Amino acid sequence: MRILVADDEPMSRRLLQSSLTKWGYEVVTAADGLAALAVLQGAEPPSLAILDWMMPGMEGVKLCEEIRAKKAEPYTYVILLTNRHSLGDIIQGLEAGADDYVRKPFDPSELKVRVATGERILALQAELISARDALRDQATRDHLTRVWNRAAILAVLDEELDRARRDGSSCGLLMVDLDNFKRINDTFGHAAGDEVLRETARTLVASTRRYDSVGRYGGEEFLIVLPGCDEVNSVSHAERLRTAVANLAVAAGAGIICPTLSLGVAIVDGGEHDVAAADLIHCADVALYQAKANGRDRVEVGRLPQLTPTTCL
Ligand SMILES: [Mg+2]
Repeated sequence: MRILVADDEPMSRRLLQSSLTKWGYEVVTAADGLAALAVLQGAEPPSLAILDWMMPGMEGVKLCEEIRAKKAEPYTYVILLTNRHSLGDIIQGLEAGADDYVRKPFDPSELKVRVATGERILALQAELISARDALRDQATRDHLTRVWNRAAILAVLDEELDRARRDGSSCGLLMVDLDNFKRINDTFGHAAGDEVLRETARTLVASTRRYDSVGRYGGEEFLIVLPGCDEVNSVSHAERLRTAVANLAVAAGAGIICPTLSLGVAIVDGGEHDVAAADLIHCADVALYQAKANGRDRVEVGRLPQLTPTTCL
């Protein structure tokens, strides 16, 4: 673990550094408050900081307040080092966001256990963060394809429609369906079908922009949200995705599967301010149905608000 030692007295700083190094910690030092703040706000800041209360530039207590105001994650565990030890001072330090305090001149064995306590709390916090991230991942990702699940992609769509409404910008929506998926499952088995879904999802993600979102809407259906895209852009994205998947050859057991996609496009442009997500989805769905009816492996565009597909590509 890396520890920041911020103390303006060279002797005290050296003593802290040598003790902590002896106990196996990696130590970064700062000789005043501003240098300490720079270290804590830099890339990969130490997770534990031992801050002298009285320092030029910025006092330890003020430094604490600065760190806490950022609410940064992961947490910085702060031990204040002070020769001020009236109850009022201690309360002021803890209120400023310090986790603990050690009186100067410090007793090495006391400091050692207090640092160990900090290390234990930081480890618990890291475990909690990783458990929380895993839960969040589980709640928002489709387990098979790893793209957004239905609830998450619908939330993304709502957010992007709000943004388009606010900014008067456009937003494209693609409803995407794997052609003849039932036949793939029946012919090659469900494991092969799963592999086709995974490969398709991977290709969709790889062929979209960083700020586009791909989600699994249902069985073999995907929803793709294209922020800022008008009709021309959305159709060209849809065509690119169609081509990318048409070029796939998925190895499945004994055979090679060449999947194709049908895509329905729906667009909200800057002028259409009150389009509900459900209407846009319906519009894309109608266009997708038209793509299927027109022979599959193709893109059709739906029109709001009549919801009638008109363009054939
Ligand atoms: Mg000092």
